Amino acid sequence: MSGTPQRLRAFAAGAAATAFLSLGASAPAATAAAAHHAAPATDCALPGRTGWTDEGHTTDPTQFQRPLGTKHVLMLFVDFPDAQSSGATSDYYRQLAPASDWMKRDSYGRTSLDITPLDRWIRMPQDSTSYGFQRGITFEQHEAYVRQAVAAADPYADFSRYDMVYVVPAKSAAAISFSPTYLYDPTTAGITADGKRLKWAVTFGQDMWHWGFKVADHETGHTFGLPDLYAFTGTDYHRFVGGWDLMGDIAGAAPQHLGWERWKLGWIDDRQVSCLPSAGSRTVRLKAVESPGGTKIAVIRTGETTAYVAESRRALGEDSRACSAGVLVYKVDTSTQTGDGPVQVVNGNPGATPPSGCRALDMAAFHSGQTFTDPATGVRIDVDSSTPLQDRISITRQ
Ligand SMILES: [Zn+2]
Repeated sequence: MSGTPQRLRAFAAGAAATAFLSLGASAPAATAAAAHHAAPATDCALPGRTGWTDEGHTTDPTQFQRPLGTKHVLMLFVDFPDAQSSGATSDYYRQLAPASDWMKRDSYGRTSLDITPLDRWIRMPQDSTSYGFQRGITFEQHEAYVRQAVAAADPYADFSRYDMVYVVPAKSAAAISFSPTYLYDPTTAGITADGKRLKWAVTFGQDMWHWGFKVADHETGHTFGLPDLYAFTGTDYHRFVGGWDLMGDIAGAAPQHLGWERWKLGWIDDRQVSCLPSAGSRTVRLKAVESPGGTKIAVIRTGETTAYVAESRRALGEDSRACSAGVLVYKVDTSTQTGDGPVQVVNGNPGATPPSGCRALDMAAFHSGQTFTDPATGVRIDVDSSTPLQDRISITRQ
């Protein structure tokens, strides 16, 4: 469960500190429709409205890291006066290193992490218990932690060569419990090393031994502008998306990013998006998110910041443990804040009994012959037929 209260507060603290940021809020101008689409994808590119990580199609390029190409990551290993190093740094590196290949596969090869371990222990100047992780670390405390790690490592590394930093603590530092992401504040002096501003970092906690390497993929997703899809409040933290998309549950059964987020990240192109921006109907052949190519999402716009999205999901690749396969339908609202449910999956099979390791919402995918309707918006989605890698759907908005 990614939502320890401390972890949530830490990320929220960063958000509060930089909430003044303005995202490019207007949707890209519509361009001429591609011949095979009744409407250009840009008519369904919903604008972000939160000024922070959200599901808006456009991402502020100054606040967030461009999610394409090779990201050069320096991995630092830190210990503390009260929690000294234990074991070889290579064991820590091995725990997180698979994050790189995972992202490459998930992104159809468009994004990868080049992680360079600084193969020595870096001693932090303060005790591990002094940084405030136990109380839900503030933005200022978190920045100080990153700054100290960078300063202590500076004699041994050339920071100008890296896009971001991963800070990994000794196992003995129990107080460094969770893994918040550092997103710089452009209005402050922040952290500079070797003449380069450090804009993004993930500081891992002991939860990396619980989650495994996908915690690095999840946290790095925040540096790309993605919000948390699990709930920050309530008792069921996974009521919005269950185990779909690792921005929801890092250990979920189908952790590959939703098609909507793939479009935002640039992992799929406009021509792979079928857009229904207003009343009408259309037939769409969707190709499974887990397999490259083809039309990946059908978007039915329902308002300035809202849409229903349909995509095909299969138990393949990184989603091999998916609990249901078929057409996943979800509601997107780009004015909804991180942790408040910017994506909400529609459960197509609410009566299904989930097998072991699956939640009710993991059974959500619609099968051939099933229909989704939302009377409030006049949206209807019929799953007409399915093949091993594709679903044919009919989408309608009255
Ligand atoms: Zn998160």
